Amino acid sequence: MLDVLIVGAGLSGIGAARHLQKDCPTRTFAILEARDAMGGTWDLFRYPGIRSDSDMHTLGYAFRPWAERKAIADGPSILRYIRAAADETGVAQQIRYGHTVRSARWSSAEACWTVDVEQKPAGKPVQFKARFLYLCCGYYSYAEGHQPAFAGQAEFRGALVYPQFWAPDLDYQDKQVVVIGSGATAVTLVPEMAKTAAHVTMLQRSPTYVVTRPSEDAIALWLDRHLPVRLAYALTRWKNILMGMFFYRLARRRPAGFRRYLVDMAARQLGPQFDVATHFTPNYNPWDQRICAVPDGDLFRQIRNGKVSVVTDTIERFTPHGILLGSGLELPADIIVAATGLKLNVLGDIAIRVDDKPYTPGQAMTYKGMMLADLPNVAMAFGYTNASWTLKADLTAGYVCRLLNYMERNGYSVAVPKGDPGVAAQPFLSFTSGYVQRAIALLPKQGDRKPWQVHQNYLADLLTIRWGRIADGVMQFSNPKGHP
Ligand SMILES: Cc1cc2nc3c(=O)[nH]c(=O)nc-3n(C[C@H](O)[C@H](O)[C@H](O)COP(=O)(O)OP(=O)(O)OC[C@H]3O[C@@H](n4cnc5c(N)ncnc54)[C@H](O)[C@@H]3O)c2cc1C
Repeated sequence: MLDVLIVGAGLSGIGAARHLQKDCPTRTFAILEARDAMGGTWDLFRYPGIRSDSDMHTLGYAFRPWAERKAIADGPSILRYIRAAADETGVAQQIRYGHTVRSARWSSAEACWTVDVEQKPAGKPVQFKARFLYLCCGYYSYAEGHQPAFAGQAEFRGALVYPQFWAPDLDYQDKQVVVIGSGATAVTLVPEMAKTAAHVTMLQRSPTYVVTRPSEDAIALWLDRHLPVRLAYALTRWKNILMGMFFYRLARRRPAGFRRYLVDMAARQLGPQFDVATHFTPNYNPWDQRICAVPDGDLFRQIRNGKVSVVTDTIERFTPHGILLGSGLELPADIIVAATGLKLNVLGDIAIRVDDKPYTPGQAMTYKGMMLADLPNVAMAFGYTNASWTLKADLTAGYVCRLLNYMERNGYSVAVPKGDPGVAAQPFLSFTSGYVQRAIALLPKQGDRKPWQVHQNYLADLLTIRWGRIADGVMQFSNPKGHP
């Protein structure tokens, strides 16, 4: 019987394990990972130019400074960073690869979880028992992306590719490429492919806010030169947290002004000839959906160079040689990249039962955005949508350690946030983006009051998660007989 079973060896799972190892040194734990490698997102995605769009001083762990020059980092550097963190701490040795968790059953009588796992390569069934489950499974399906079917798709004679399943040998040199979409993936791929492709067209149904960010942070580099590494990292991290919060708040309080500021910024980089009103002026307010960052304005530069064009139109159908648009125009293409998004999932698609009753996360309410009502001894890592994921994952890991230590000190073996039917349910995420809206029924709900709200605000979470009382009246503790 393990004390804690972590599911997922991505950025969150490795960070969670490090926290446990340091703050709960007597607790036994293991990490089950479905894939054959750690790193999650940063190992899976291999499309050209894959990178973060938040800065690594906040996407990195609080416990391990980001030491590279670039603050907006490429995927391989992020993967190296995660691997180094896991190796240095010894956490890597606790990972069991090729273990996909399919279901988890809580027994109140035994006060433990029984977890059913499929082990690679043959799918051999294996069971684990653990007192506490810590789900660090990310938020999207690794098996499939969002792949809408386009009319005439089968007629297209070129290559149709998906960013999540990139073929490493795809040759796009001197080819005509059309990238469908203008989200974070598209704005990353487009300028990178344009370096060698004959031409890249970014085809979008509607525009996205795209903002230029410097890939190197001059203040961070200055602090690095003049201060001890850890202090410099901590200061840059705080600078970026506070600046991120400031700009987010400004955007939500003054949407019209902020919108003008973002659109003007794009217009300045694209020049007077470019039709910014059509291609870079979204019909929603900033942060109703994620704002896309482009390092050093690479996308805008490639548009200015004529290597990239942006088309805002609808797809009528695929043709043998490209895409026919709603306007009647046909875009020629040798390669079409469907950057149409992720398929969100919840809790790693694990089927959960509590004392033989199915537990449906979509009908549950989150406790502080990291546990679920009436689900005993389970925490989940779910990061911010308006700031780096790791900031929240890190607070959650700290909380789990505090909770476990509190339980140990007081002789409890079970902790469960007791659901309150009087709390009104609201959506977990307020984004209007398609990928969020498609998954809204699957996602848990948040409540209209503490501690059921999901703040999307690091300072508010510091108060409630790091400094809030563990025994807050909502978290119920017990110690079923016979389980010390
Ligand atoms: C292309 C891309 C770019 C991104 N850029 C940023 C960014 O710049 N900033 C930011 O804050 N966020 C970004 N994100 C969000 C990003 O996913 C998080 O930042 C972070 O990597 C999530 O880490 P995680 O460990 O929680 O999840 P993941 O990285 O998704 O890892 C989850 C792990 O759990 C495993 N797993 C899942 N289910 C099971 C199961 N049932 N059994 C066993 N193992 C399981 C998976 O195999 C995987 O290894 C980006 C996402 C994508 C897709």
